[in-house]
Amino acid sequence: MLPEHVSKRWEATPGPRTRDSHRALGGAEVKWGQQFISPVTGAAMDWPHDEDAPAAETINCRCSCTFRTDWRAVARWRRAKEGLAA
Ligand SMILES: [Zn+2]
Repeated sequence: MLPEHVSKRWEATPGPRTRDSHRALGGAEVKWGQQFISPVTGAAMDWPHDEDAPAAETINCRCSCTFRTDWRAVARWRRAKEGLAA
């Protein structure tokens, strides 16, 4: 399996306490190895609570992240790798 077969989705917790930047990121998807970019601070983050992100993006954050594997793409990749017809 390759990194591009996995995507990360920012899951914002709805409510008035959610940062504008995280509300905007809610539902955003990036590939594994890519980062989410805050539309407010411009900070690049691997996921919510990224320990390398500025405190303005992490303190009291209640967001989460889900990961999705594109198994069809994995199957195509494996068939190609094994030299079998797709
Ligand atoms: Zn958040």
